[in-house]
Amino acid sequence: MKVFKFGGTSVGSPENMRSVMNIITDGEPKIVVLSAMSGTTNTLVEISNCLYEGKKEEAHKIIADLKAKYATVVTDLYETTEFRAKGQDIIDQHFDKLEDQAEGEFGPVKEQVILAQGELISTALVTYLLNENGHDATLLPSLEFMRINADKQADIAAIKDLIKPALELNKGKQIYITQGFICRNIYGDIDNLQRGGSDYTATLIGAAIGSEEVQIWTDIDGFHNNDPRYVDKTQKIDNLLFTEAAELAYFGAKILHPLTILPAREANIPVRLKNTMNPKDSGTLISNDKTIEGLKAVAAKDNIIAIRILSDRMLMAYGFLRAVFEVFEKYKTAIDMIATSEVSVSLTIDNDQYLNQILDELNEFGDVEVDREHTIVCVVGDMISEQKVFSKQVFEAIEGIPVRMISYGGSQYNMSILINSKYKKDTLQRLSDHLFDEEDI
Ligand code: ADP
Ligand code: ASP
Ligand code: MG
Repeated sequence: MKVFKFGGTSVGSPENMRSVMNIITDGEPKIVVLSAMSGTTNTLVEISNCLYEGKKEEAHKIIADLKAKYATVVTDLYETTEFRAKGQDIIDQHFDKLEDQAEGEFGPVKEQVILAQGELISTALVTYLLNENGHDATLLPSLEFMRINADKQADIAAIKDLIKPALELNKGKQIYITQGFICRNIYGDIDNLQRGGSDYTATLIGAAIGSEEVQIWTDIDGFHNNDPRYVDKTQKIDNLLFTEAAELAYFGAKILHPLTILPAREANIPVRLKNTMNPKDSGTLISNDKTIEGLKAVAAKDNIIAIRILSDRMLMAYGFLRAVFEVFEKYKTAIDMIATSEVSVSLTIDNDQYLNQILDELNEFGDVEVDREHTIVCVVGDMISEQKVFSKQVFEAIEGIPVRMISYGGSQYNMSILINSKYKKDTLQRLSDHLFDEEDI
């Protein structure tokens, strides 16, 4: 059975929801993962922030405005009074839930309940749309099977165990509609897979059921060779290797949640990116199939913190790097890039939750410098080809841009460059202009 995932824009209006219905009702059985309607999760975050700040009135006002928007959606989405009533009933239930969270003391458990309502609403509305139009569709509640462990990582074994009985319960249905993004944690409380996490839900389900293909449907025709939000004339890539797509997603390509590719790569399940607004286009296929040689794409990851430790103790010493890494391990903070010289080590992190504690401990080793507001620009593709020296092309493209760090050779598929974020747009455009001229595509 295939897994299809539709993002926020794809379910962002009654018209787009109808496009989704047309795509998924092709007669093949499938599990369909949906995001919240576009803008909803941001509004839910806003509501939570108000409640954390004690601004209850403001929170109630935002809830009321959002509810009014959904009332219009319900009127436009359904044709019969029966389904309009059912849809409005769903809206009332979920907005009562939101109002409930605003009562009494506010905290992380209530915040998670709030953030979950977007996907709970969109999936219920689309299931009713399918039912109103005579399609054999049912809800498959993801809170019954999506799990994360104590480290907030997807618990793949538990998901596999739990999804089977959930499917069994509704055996023989053509279309199962389920919520992206949301899950339960080890305490049984509602939690989530981080922003943009519906893509990850789709590949986790794909791996759990041994799907033949996962399709991620969005608002663009596939994976582009650079970020279209910053760069002119980006182009769609037809094929990517799992390794390449995983690097690009991890290093900031917003089209995929950073972890999306991992379960698919592990289970060797192809992932196809498709455009809901142009379903005929073949999109981008991510798989293990050998693709064209050469550079494929550029991505950028913001909010990077660079840390440099200067220490005479490093000179000719072994065990120094281990001691440094142990500090990051202790504070569960992942390191993205690393570069060393005889007397210093530079590394980057993107999570500043424990930065002060980490810096306190690193100060024991020597002088520590910290640079914020940096961006990792990641060039991905087969860097080693007989015909071309790709590293030379990269350096030519960014000539004159102050580079803080470079990482090359960790894998054959990635070169990462750390720059101050103010040079990001220029760097991305220059790389596009220099690396991906028409004849190279
Ligand atoms: P969805 O809501 O469907 O999950 P997203 O907004 O999360 O959609 O992802 C799609 C968007 O990702 C595109 O509209 C595009 O602006 C952005 N994007 C960033 N980098 C890329 C890239 N390399 N290729 C395609 N889209 C990209
Ligand atoms: N609705 C969630 C978000 O906006 C998850 C997703 O869209 O993938 O982050
Ligand atoms: Mg997304």
